[in-house]
Amino acid sequence: MNEISRSQALFDKAKQFIPGGVNSPVRAFRAVGGNPLFIKKAKGPYLYDEDGNQYIDLINSWGPMILGHAHPAIEEAIREAVSASPSFGAPTAREVEMAELICSMVPSVEKVRMVNSGTEATMSAIRVARGYTGRDKIIKMEGCYHGHGDSFLIAAGSGALTFGYPDSPGVTKGTAQDTLIAPFNDLKAIENLIAKNPEEIAALILEPVVGNMGCVIPAEGYLQGLRELCTRHGIILIFDEVMTGFRLAQGGAQELYGVKPDMSTLGKIIGGGLPVGAYGGRKEIMDSVSPAGPVYQAGTLSGNPMAMAAGLVMLKHLKAHPEIYGQLDKTTTKLVNDMGDEIRKAGFNFTINQVGSMFTLFFTATKVTDFGTAKTSDTALFAKYFQAMLQQGIYLAPSQYEAMFVSTAVDNNIADKILTAHRQALKSF
Ligand SMILES: *Cc1c(COP(=O)(O)O)cnc(C)c1O
Repeated sequence: MNEISRSQALFDKAKQFIPGGVNSPVRAFRAVGGNPLFIKKAKGPYLYDEDGNQYIDLINSWGPMILGHAHPAIEEAIREAVSASPSFGAPTAREVEMAELICSMVPSVEKVRMVNSGTEATMSAIRVARGYTGRDKIIKMEGCYHGHGDSFLIAAGSGALTFGYPDSPGVTKGTAQDTLIAPFNDLKAIENLIAKNPEEIAALILEPVVGNMGCVIPAEGYLQGLRELCTRHGIILIFDEVMTGFRLAQGGAQELYGVKPDMSTLGKIIGGGLPVGAYGGRKEIMDSVSPAGPVYQAGTLSGNPMAMAAGLVMLKHLKAHPEIYGQLDKTTTKLVNDMGDEIRKAGFNFTINQVGSMFTLFFTATKVTDFGTAKTSDTALFAKYFQAMLQQGIYLAPSQYEAMFVSTAVDNNIADKILTAHRQALKSF
C-alpha cells in the first residue's frame, strides 16, 4: 500500500473548513472509497501527491492537459502575462487574437464571448438561445452534464450522477419544468417532445460525444437527425463541447462528425489549465449578447490576461500540429485494445467506448449507448478496479461515469506501464 498519511491529514483538516473536504464533488473519491490524494505537482504524464508518490495521470485535470502537465510553452506564456499584471478589466490584444483563433478553428463559431468556466458558458448560451428565440423551454439528454447551472441539474451526469443527485435540491420547480429530458441516441423521443411543446422549445443542448455518463458515442445519423429537427422547428442546436472541443479534433466533435450546430460551448482545453470557458455561434445569434444586443452577460475577470495567454499557446500549438489528433487516436486505440484483451482473459464482463483520446471502460456486458445502458455497469467492481490501479500507480477518474483522457505525454513506454498496471490490477481482485 502506498503511504498517504499527508493526504489523509489534509483531508481530515479540509473537511473542517470545506464542504466534504473538496471544491468539486467527484474529487472526494466517494464513489470508489478511500482517501482522496492531495496533489502537489505534476509534469508530463505524471502526478505527484503530498506524500511523494508518483502516478500516471489518465484524468489530466478532467481534460484540459491534452499536452501533458506543465508544458514549457504554456508555463512561459503565463509567466510573461503575469509580469504585466494579472488583470486589467479592460480589453486586450490577446482577447482579439483568441476570438479570431477560435472562430478559425471551430466550424460553428462566427463570434465568441469568453467566460471563466464551462458552467458559465452553458448557462450563458441557454440564456442567449432563450432571448434570441423568445421561447422558454430547453431539451437536454438524460445523463449529459452541462455544468451546475439550475436548468441543467435535471437528469444530470458526472458528479451529480455519481452521487445519486441527478436532480438537485435548490432548483425551483419552475426552472425544472422548463427543462425537457430525452434519452441520448433517441431521435423519436426528440420528435415527441417537439410535438408536445410546439413553438416552445428554445434550444436543444447535448454533448455530441458524451463524456459525463462515461464515454458514449452518437449513433450513425443521430447528430445529423438532431440538426434537421432543430432547423425544421426553429430550435437552437447547442453542442456542449466543453470536453470534446479541441480534444477530438481542432474543431471538436462538430468537425469530426461534420455537423454544424447553431451555438457551441467550450472550456477545459481552451484555457490550457487556467479557468476559462467560451460560448459562440452564428453571428446573428451572438449579436443578441450585450452590449451588441439585449441579452445580458458579463464577467469581471473574463478574458483574463493569464488565462488568454495560456489558452492562446495551447490552441496555436494544436493548430500548428494537426497530426496530434491522429497520434492520440492511434495511442488510445492501441491502449484500449490491449486493455480489452487483458480484461477478456481475466474473465470480466466489459464494454469499452472510445472516440479519439477519450474512453471509458464500463464493467457491463451490455453495449453502452445511453444513460440506461450506462447504469447497467457494476460500479462496485469499478471501485475495486480503481483502487487496484491506484496501487499500481495509475490515477483514473474516481467514478464509473467519467471519461479517461490520454495526453500527448503518453508515449509507448507510458502506455506499456499503464497496460502492465492494468494486468496486475485485474489479478488482484
Ligand atoms: C466539465 C464540463 C462542463 C462544466 O465545466 P466547468 O468548467 O466544470 O464548469 C460543462 N459541460 C461539459 C460537457 C463538461 O464536460
